[in-house]
Amino acid sequence: MARSDERNHPQESSLPAALWLVPLVASVVTPGLLWTAGGPFAFGFDLFLTITALVAPVAVVTAAVLSRGFKERIRWSLGVTMVVMTLLFQWPSFTLVGRRVAGVVSVRLVADVVPVVVAVALLWVTVRLAHTWQFAAITSPILVATTAVLVVSAVSVIAPRPAPVDATEPAAEAPDVVLLVLDGYGRPDVTLEPFGFDTSAFERSLEELGFAVASAATANYTFTYAALSGVLELEYVFDLGPVTDSEREAMLASLSGDARMIRAFKEAGYEITYLENAWAGSYCGGLVDECVRDGLLERGLWGIGQLTVAAPLLAMARPHPFNSVSFGHLESLAEILTRPGSDGPRFTFAHLILPHQPYALDADCTRQTAELRRTLDSPSEAERDAQRRHYAEQIACVNATIVAELTEAIAARPDLVAMITADHGPRLLPLTELEFWADEAMRERLSIFGAYRLPGCDNRFWPDITPINGARAVTDCALGTSLGSLPDVNYWVPPGGNGDVVDLTDRLRN
Ligand SMILES: [Zn+2]
Repeated sequence: MARSDERNHPQESSLPAALWLVPLVASVVTPGLLWTAGGPFAFGFDLFLTITALVAPVAVVTAAVLSRGFKERIRWSLGVTMVVMTLLFQWPSFTLVGRRVAGVVSVRLVADVVPVVVAVALLWVTVRLAHTWQFAAITSPILVATTAVLVVSAVSVIAPRPAPVDATEPAAEAPDVVLLVLDGYGRPDVTLEPFGFDTSAFERSLEELGFAVASAATANYTFTYAALSGVLELEYVFDLGPVTDSEREAMLASLSGDARMIRAFKEAGYEITYLENAWAGSYCGGLVDECVRDGLLERGLWGIGQLTVAAPLLAMARPHPFNSVSFGHLESLAEILTRPGSDGPRFTFAHLILPHQPYALDADCTRQTAELRRTLDSPSEAERDAQRRHYAEQIACVNATIVAELTEAIAARPDLVAMITADHGPRLLPLTELEFWADEAMRERLSIFGAYRLPGCDNRFWPDITPINGARAVTDCALGTSLGSLPDVNYWVPPGGNGDVVDLTDRLRN
């Protein structure tokens, strides 16, 4: 018996156990770093901590279970735990290897087989060699270097700390202001009515609440990062030609709340409320007085789930936090807008990832089944029709909730200045590279919903207003500034933020 134990767990290396512990710690922090530091957007420190706090107990329990008879097996159990953590929470790296190999040999099944074979082989080798100094010598540098690269990229996207703002005493009659961005809400006459979905009752309800509906509104940019930063910055952040580093920095600052519009309201004595959603670009920055940051646990669990082998199943079994966090915000909009306790008037910025896909909500806001929630890469004609129907249903839910919430908010704040706009339309028709993009698909993407409540400032509104001019009108109306308007322009921006910006205004309007 003693002999077989010896064979299974031979004498451990005499090197310090820290050489095994360090890569294990690295394997615990990488999932959170991967999920929160992966782009041009601000590093979400809270979400990183949440994910790490969820991953760490798995490592502790695994190491504890493996290290029965603690001292003799400490290095071995730390090494095996580290590899188990990597297999559990870095699964996309293994499937990436599978896809690469499948691309070379042109057999699709290989994409699924390769990651499993690699994982089993890695575990097999680890169980035999985790106690040796050679194992530590190889894994320590690899994992520490990977973590270091992620930390550097996280540090490079920490939101800039804005300069302090000198606030003045607000005018006694200053109205509360809400800027509500509904992600992917296309203009009904382009995306819904031709397909038999009537949303005119919603527009009438808004008009009864004092809104003017922008019946020919179009988007300034094709993608969220540019559209939102333009609105918050009150001007075009991305100009014609290649996207530059300084434009990306301006985007990062404005999406984190250090934006010209927010600064203007803060200087005028407003309290700034910012609703953080599950989109990576959304982040309460230093100028925000009240951050509504909900669903951290849900967002953390979702992020972890997406890094595991169970990602496709989880995506079907659980609501996407895009939807669930934003629907929670939408349902509590009146409460957020009329919350007592603030001294001055309030400026609220709410970017909701609704009615953006996945289409998880029925017309009465109950959840649809997992099957309907699926996002398809290349849908058939019938699947596309079904998607449009689900999109229409999700819009019906959003519409009903908005009317109910705004009715309540406006009853309490009759002088509320409000702007409801989409950033861009849906992508029900294929959104390809610009050179292959069909006119019809472009019209769908760039025709957007917009409605404005500008008490006493009706002259600042026109039917084909774009969001940047809408935000300037809201600012002028509430603060008495005279920003005026800019030309209404529609730009293509590259989806990943790398490439050329192209003016589509003529193509869209002809
Ligand atoms: Zn968007």
